[in-house]
Amino acid sequence: MTIPEILIPAPMLPGVVAALEARYCVHRLWEQDAPDAFITDVAPRIRGMAVSTLAGKVDAMWLDRLPALEIIANFGVGYDNIDARAAAARGVVVTNTPGILDEEVADLAIGLLLATLRRIPQADRYVRDGHWPDGPFPLSPTLRGRRIGIVGLGAIGKAIARRLDAFGVAIAYHGRSRQPDVDYAFHEDLIALAEASDVLIVIVPGGNRTKHLINAAVMAALGAEGILVNVARGSVVDEAALIDALQQGTIWGAGLDVFEDEPHVPDALRTMPNVVLLPHIGSASQHTRNAMGQMVVDNLIAWFESGQAVSPVPEAIHRAQRR
Ligand code: NDP
Repeated sequence: MTIPEILIPAPMLPGVVAALEARYCVHRLWEQDAPDAFITDVAPRIRGMAVSTLAGKVDAMWLDRLPALEIIANFGVGYDNIDARAAAARGVVVTNTPGILDEEVADLAIGLLLATLRRIPQADRYVRDGHWPDGPFPLSPTLRGRRIGIVGLGAIGKAIARRLDAFGVAIAYHGRSRQPDVDYAFHEDLIALAEASDVLIVIVPGGNRTKHLINAAVMAALGAEGILVNVARGSVVDEAALIDALQQGTIWGAGLDVFEDEPHVPDALRTMPNVVLLPHIGSASQHTRNAMGQMVVDNLIAWFESGQAVSPVPEAIHRAQRR
């Protein structure tokens, strides 16, 4: 039986590449001098792909070029970087990495919330820049008495809520449906949630369905003391409207791990005092990234050895077994 050939378009953890190379014929596209000609050459033989957001969008054009493709293993739980419907229409399975990064991302979300509210990075700069002898650091807003609204109470949203329970703050949420396993107040209407909250933590999937879900109206409803924390995807927040809301004092501040045009962050945000900006590090600990990498490898191995993916995304379920 011929060894499956796998295409990796952009760099991944060295351990992932090594584990796949130990079993399969792996093509490192990012190391090719003429990537386009290279794809044309290997395309008829490619049966698997291992991708991350670094690979850009894996869309219908990609799929059309790879007629033998059976599986796309994504490094990440969010897979808005892949056109999963187009893949499903061609019988290509897409897998992601659910369940192993929830706690890590929730930790980061809480850290970002506290950093934004208590201005921790600004206070650190104050000490480093030698300003402390000039006088105390200005007083910050507080988490005390704040009402937290979670937009997207899924696996990560619930891990965030569990942590917030310990802080003794009121929690409510918005999603397309009420979650049967929690008692938090549910708001079917996002504006109503924003009106009833002092902090909005956004943790829904990216993609067309949630594009600019957080818009000018939501920020107006959040109000002048309000804080927006986005650990979902940059596309979920209308970044121009956010900048305007921060400049006009429509909301007080923002903690952002994700941006519309990563890794580019608008100057307007980078120069604002009441924002904390992170380079998309929600799951980025060595421990959790290793676990995610292992799941990418496990999905490809399971597919090629047993004909069954470990964690297919919902769009792919009907084709979760190799024919
Ligand atoms: P889940 O699928 O478990 O949860 C997603 C939640 O979002 C569900 O509760 C769902 O509820 C809600 N939701 C989905 N679509 C909509 C919509 N159109 N409007 C309102 N709510 C919606 O996903 P996870 O919790 O595992 O992950 C969520 C996202 O977090 C990922 O897709 C990814 O984009 C992002 N993420 C970011 C990371 C980072 O590094 N910053 C790391 C990991 C994930 P319902 O179906 O009822 O609407």
